[in-house]
Amino acid sequence: MNTQVCMYCGGQLEEQRVTRFQKYQDRWVLIENVPALVCSQCGEQFFTPAAHDLVVDLISGKSNPVRTETVAVYDAELAK
Ligand SMILES: [Zn+2]
Repeated sequence: MNTQVCMYCGGQLEEQRVTRFQKYQDRWVLIENVPALVCSQCGEQFFTPAAHDLVVDLISGKSNPVRTETVAVYDAELAK
């Protein structure tokens, strides 16, 4: 892949496998080991259209989850 730069800070992007946290049909799902380009400077993650399609395929029911996690949810509006 060609060397690319971050659209936010201009840092170098590196290919990495990341965990993506995404809402799908009102449920949060985790997708591990998604190929992404990660900025070495600010940490912003960028996904190629192919990686996006892969995620959609996985979470839209073509695969079973490898495991299920319980997620604690907090609301910052309620913080004092
Ligand atoms: Zn950056």
